Amino acid sequence: MKQIKRPEEPLAMWNGSDRIEGVIHPSVTAIIRSGGCSWNRCKICQYRHERFSGIEKPELIRLMSAQLHKLKDKISKDNPEVIKLYTSGSFLDPQEVPTCIQDEVIELSKGKTLIVESRCDYIDEERISKMVERLRDGNETADFYVAIGLETTSDRIREKCIDKGLLFSDFIKTSEIIHKSGAKVKTYLLHKPPYLTESEAYQDMTQSIKDIIPFTELISMNPCTVQRNTHLETLWKKQVYRPPYLWSVASTLSNSQVHVTCDPIGGGQTRGPHNCGRCDGLILDAIRDYNLSADQDLMKSVLEMNCGCKNEWEYVMKEEISWAMPLTH
Ligand code: SF4
Ligand SMILES: [Zn+2]
Repeated sequence: MKQIKRPEEPLAMWNGSDRIEGVIHPSVTAIIRSGGCSWNRCKICQYRHERFSGIEKPELIRLMSAQLHKLKDKISKDNPEVIKLYTSGSFLDPQEVPTCIQDEVIELSKGKTLIVESRCDYIDEERISKMVERLRDGNETADFYVAIGLETTSDRIREKCIDKGLLFSDFIKTSEIIHKSGAKVKTYLLHKPPYLTESEAYQDMTQSIKDIIPFTELISMNPCTVQRNTHLETLWKKQVYRPPYLWSVASTLSNSQVHVTCDPIGGGQTRGPHNCGRCDGLILDAIRDYNLSADQDLMKSVLEMNCGCKNEWEYVMKEEISWAMPLTH
C-alpha cells in the first residue's frame, strides 16, 4: 500500500451550517478515504487520487470503519441535524465503499438528514428505499439526499470538456429512481470546465440551472478550481485555461430562478475563481452569506459594485472567442 499519513483519520471533518429547502441546519461534513472512484478519469478531478490502493477488502473495511468511528464521536459530541459524507468518489459503489460500510454510515446517521454523493451507475431503488427507511427510524424529517455530479445539462460539454461518462438522460432516469425510493436529489454543477469561453460557461450554467429544476431538490454550483495532477492543471500551466471570474459566478446566482448554493473553493486565488484581487473578498463574503440567506438582492447589489476589473470582465464576456482545434492533423 502507498504510504498514507494517518489512514485511520478522515481526510477532513468540520462543522458548519447548511440551508436545506428553506431551513438552516447545523451540519458536520466528513471526507473519508475510500477504495477510490471506479470511473477515475474526469479531466478536472484530483479527488480520484485520494484512495487506498493495493489493499485487500478486509483491510479497506477496517480502515474505513476506523475513520467512521471518528465521525461517530464528532456526531455524539456536536449533535448536528445534517451529516454530509463524501468519499472522493461514489458512496453507493460497493467496490469503493463496501456495503457493510455503507450500512454503518446509515446506522450512525439515524434520525438525521444524510447527504452522500454517487455516480448514477450505482443507484438501486430497493437498496435506497431500505436506506431511507433505516435512516428515518421514526423521524420523518430525516432525509436521505443522493448528490449527483451532473456538472452541466449539455452532453457535449460534459463529454468533451470533462469526460464524465454520463448523459443528461441518465441523470433524469436516476433522479426518478431516487425519488421513487423516497430519497431526494442534490445536483452539482461545474461552472467553467476547460475549453469554454467565459461567456459560453456562463450561458451553460444559466441554462443548466433552468433545465434541472424539475428533477432536483437542491442545486450546488461549483466554480471550477485548478486541482493538482489533473489535465486541467496542464492546460492552466500552458495558459489556455482561466477559472471563472467571480463576476460571472455572482451574476449566475443573482439571476437563477431558485436558490443555488455555491462553494467557491480556492476563491480569490489564481487557481480558483477570481477577479482582480481587490474586490474578490467582498464578493466571496456575499456568496457565503447568500448560501444561508438566499437573499438574491444581496447578489444583485454585489453586481452594482464598481471595480476596475468589471470592465475587463465585460470585455472578456463580449470578445473572447471559442476554443478552436484543427479539424485535421
Ligand atoms: S469527478 Fe467524480 S466521477 Fe469524475 S473522476 Fe472525480 S470522483 Fe470520479
Ligand atoms: Zn476587481
